[in-house]
Amino acid sequence: MNFTETRGNDGRRPASVSFSEAILSPMSSFGGIYVPEDLPELGLDFLNAHRTADYKALARDVLAAFEPDIAPGVIGRALATYDAFDDPANPVPVIQVRDDLYVSELYHGPTRAFKDMALQPFGVVLSELAQQQGGHYLILAATSGDTGPAALDTFRNKANVKVACLYPDGGTSDVQRLQMVTEDAPNLKVIGIHGDFDDAQSALKRLLASDAFRAKLQEKNTLLSAANSVNFGRIIFQVIYHIHSYLELVRQGAIDMGDRVYLDVPSGNFGNALGGYYALKMGLPVEKILIASNRNNVLTDLINTGRYDLRDRPVIGTTSPAMDILKSSNVERILWDLFGAERTKALMEQLDKDKHYELTAEELARLQAIFAADFCDDAEGKAYIQQAFENGYLMDPHTATCFKAYETRRAKPLKTIVYSTAEWTKFSPTIANALTGEVGARDIDALRTIAQAAKTTIPAPIARLFDKPIAQTSVIDKERIEEEVLAFL
Ligand SMILES: *Cc1c(COP(=O)(O)O)cnc(C)c1O
Repeated sequence: MNFTETRGNDGRRPASVSFSEAILSPMSSFGGIYVPEDLPELGLDFLNAHRTADYKALARDVLAAFEPDIAPGVIGRALATYDAFDDPANPVPVIQVRDDLYVSELYHGPTRAFKDMALQPFGVVLSELAQQQGGHYLILAATSGDTGPAALDTFRNKANVKVACLYPDGGTSDVQRLQMVTEDAPNLKVIGIHGDFDDAQSALKRLLASDAFRAKLQEKNTLLSAANSVNFGRIIFQVIYHIHSYLELVRQGAIDMGDRVYLDVPSGNFGNALGGYYALKMGLPVEKILIASNRNNVLTDLINTGRYDLRDRPVIGTTSPAMDILKSSNVERILWDLFGAERTKALMEQLDKDKHYELTAEELARLQAIFAADFCDDAEGKAYIQQAFENGYLMDPHTATCFKAYETRRAKPLKTIVYSTAEWTKFSPTIANALTGEVGARDIDALRTIAQAAKTTIPAPIARLFDKPIAQTSVIDKERIEEEVLAFL
């Protein structure tokens, strides 16, 4: 299968590229991104044939349907990364939490957030492609907390790839910061920035767009790639768990094969939701995809009104910070799929220039045939955490936003799969506050509070962080990032 560009082709690069080309060099014409030209049709036969397949066998066959130009051995080694999850036989447990609501837990990987689902196998694929081509790649990442640890973990000591990861100093949780600054592999560099996530992100974008920076990298024989979800190499691994979660409901007897379900996704950059959209298009029986946001509710507005509006809309800090995003990159792939390249280019250019766009009534109807959306503020999220805990389920504040959409946006009483994107250990002060009222605790104290309240223990990989030596000590002004990255190379 080949990949094409969301904003059309500028004549300076091929109009159609292979999977490996789309991975190694993810930016396309006019600032667009790559999308599959068409999607494989899986349908009920495929689902029936995989009724009892384990996660890796299912993953192998879903990937094979995309016919990627990646050797089966590489795919096998990529999928073997799921063996490091809590239960290698079932890396994504699906738990009934109440009535029709099932939670698909995507956080059982090494860094305890759902970014591992895609980044763990992606790291193997990218490194092996780079080695095959004899190229050396630099991954520049800016993180508000979860992408950084997951990207560092997956590329640790991987050949032909170096990672420089920028984080806002003071802007992440203690656990997230420790996950990054205790990384000591020679191919990893972690840089704290005086500023917030937007400062780190804009500094990164400037570097990625700088010809002078690229020329300096070239002198060092290094190419730039990306590990954020504009890279389709991440999205493809996010189709699989939606299909797996559906099959789990069949196996648990919650639904019959072919019954429709709701997918309920906590959304930021829309990578998780896009994986669900592709699964639906490939034949998964999905009634609708519910898009859950926090108060940064651009996606709620888009889906309910057809308007994407960034004017007078600063990013609001919330207790679900991985969703504090206003420019949601993967919406562009939906626009392309529904309305074509010409329209997508016009809409995205308008968003860049005027900070807003509006869909036509007919376009909005097509979007609403697939998606429904609501947002959940911090107080509501806290109440959902408390309520779930009283019923014996401990969840993080991102997952909690889905409970609102579950209550308000289901038109039919169908089974619903809520995606849980982080373990309680990653956002412990917020959860401790919900459970005991404790305010302003440091992570280590909040972790103890929660473990006690939930009669559990702090998982070893998290507890260990507090004793590990700090290996990464750079905290700098954003003007000095380029210098610091070049010195690292
Ligand atoms: C990244 C992240 C999200 C948002 O996922 P997208 O694919 O960007 O929509 C939600 N929750 C957590 C905990 C995350 O780390």
